[in-house]
Amino acid sequence: HAKSSGRNALRIFDPSLQAELTARAALESDLRQALRLDQFILHYQPQVDQDGRVVGAEALVRWQHPARGLLAPLEFIPLAEETGLIVQLGEIILRQACRQLAQWQASPATAGLSLAVNVSARQFRHPDFLQLVFDALAQNGAASEGLELELTESVLVDDIEDTIGKMRRLKQEGVRFSLDDFGTGYSSLAYLKRLPLDQLKIDRSFVRDILDDGNDAIIARSIIALGRNLGLAVIAEGVEAPEQKAFLETMGCGRFQGYLFGRPAPADAFAALLQPKPASAPSAIG
Ligand code: C2E
Ligand code: MG
Ligand code: MG
Ligand code: MG
Repeated sequence: HAKSSGRNALRIFDPSLQAELTARAALESDLRQALRLDQFILHYQPQVDQDGRVVGAEALVRWQHPARGLLAPLEFIPLAEETGLIVQLGEIILRQACRQLAQWQASPATAGLSLAVNVSARQFRHPDFLQLVFDALAQNGAASEGLELELTESVLVDDIEDTIGKMRRLKQEGVRFSLDDFGTGYSSLAYLKRLPLDQLKIDRSFVRDILDDGNDAIIARSIIALGRNLGLAVIAEGVEAPEQKAFLETMGCGRFQGYLFGRPAPADAFAALLQPKPASAPSAIG
C-alpha cells in the first residue's frame, strides 16, 4: 500500500510545491487578518451610454496590503473563493458599496447613478445572502433601484431553481441583475431564457480584438442580438478605443465600460469625472 502511494507521496515533498503551499498558507492567513483589519477598498469604474454620459459604475475591490501595496482581485479573490472567505469579504464589499450608493443618491449630480457589485457564486449561494442585501441597503438608506448585482454563469451550474428564486425576491425590491463575462462560461440558452436578468455584459476577451478578428466581431454581434431579442440591455466591457465603441454601437450595444471612459479609481476621483467641465477659455489658435 505504501508503495502504491509512493508517487503521490513524492510530490508532497516536491520543494516547489512545498513553496507554493507555504505561500498559499501565508496568503490565507494575511487574508483573514485583512478582513479583521478592514484593509479592503472599492474602486469605481464608470459605465457610459451611447453619448458617453456616465450612467453608473462598477465597484471593483482592492486589497491595501501592508507590505505588498495595492493588490488586484486576481491576487486574492480566487483564494478567498476556495477557502470560503469570500462570504465574509463579499459582505464587507456589499456594505461598503451600499454606503457609497446612498451617498451618490443623496446628491443631485450623482443621484441617478447605478452601482454594479460583483457577487461570487459561493456568496450568492449562501443562505443569508438575501438578508445581507436587504440589510446593507436599509442600514445605509440606499434605494434598491440603484443596486445592480453582477453574476457570472457559474451561479447557473449549481442549483438553477434556487438561483431563480433568489433573483426574483431581489428583483421584487428593485435590485437589477447583469450577467458578467458573458460568453466565457457554460450558460445554456435554456437557462438564459428563464433567468430574470436585466443585462448581459459582453466579456472583454471579445472586445479586445473586435476590430481585427472577424470571429470576435461575430460573437459580439450575436450576444447583442440575443440580449436585445430577450429584452435585455447589453453592455460591453474592456472598451479601450473609440473605434471599438463605435463598432459596438453600430451593432446595437447601448452601454460601455473600459479604460476609454475611465479606469477604476477611488470614489473621490470617480466623482471628479462627473463634475461639469469648466467652460474652456477661448483658444489662442481660434
Ligand atoms: P470583472 O467583473 O469582469 O471586472 C472587469 C475587470 O476588467 C476589472 O479588473 C477592470 O479593472 C478591468 N478593466 C476594465 N476596463 C478595462 C479595459 O478597458 N481594459 C482592460 N485591459 N481591463 C479593463 P479587476 O478590477 O482587476 O477585477 C478583476 C475581476 O475580479 C473582476 O472581473 C471580477 O471578476 C473580480 N472582482 C473584482 N471586484 C470584485 C468583488 O468586489 N467581488 C468579487 N466577487 N469579485 C470581484
Ligand atoms: Mg464585473
Ligand atoms: Mg466582467
Ligand atoms: Mg471580465
